[in-house]
Amino acid sequence: MAYDNDNIFARIIRGEIPCHRIHEDVDTIAFMDIMPQAEGHALVLPKIAGEDVFSTPPESLAAAIRTAQLVARAVKQVFAPPGIMIAQLNGQAAGQSVFHLHFHVIPRYAGKDLGIHAAAQADPAKLAAQAERLR
Ligand code: 5GP
Repeated sequence: MAYDNDNIFARIIRGEIPCHRIHEDVDTIAFMDIMPQAEGHALVLPKIAGEDVFSTPPESLAAAIRTAQLVARAVKQVFAPPGIMIAQLNGQAAGQSVFHLHFHVIPRYAGKDLGIHAAAQADPAKLAAQAERLR
């Protein structure tokens, strides 16, 4: 599949669509997932165009995982979950719905199932407050 320059994350990177930003540097951006699977669910993206792990250069993957570690540390500090899942999906069959490579950073709690993927939009005020704490 060819990379779609107008996918939602490309538009967020270009600043055409707002997001609840947690971190940004020259290579990566991190923001709250608008349909979180758990409180504090964040997304980390390399800025370079690439839809999946196969079409994203290794240096960009490395930059993104560095930012994912930074964000996971912040999530641990702010939400104090006993576990944190870092996930990255490739292809529709794997559940990928936005075709610009990204890592999910999701707090996990013992005995609490993961929420449904990309199902329900969270309260924007709540996401803004969470992003502020994570920043
Ligand atoms: P994927 O299914 O591709 O692994 O994950 C895409 C993620 O992006 C989903 O968890 C979904 O909730 C999230 N998402 C979809 N549209 C938007 C949006 O416009 N803004 C933000 N912040 N997240 C989005």
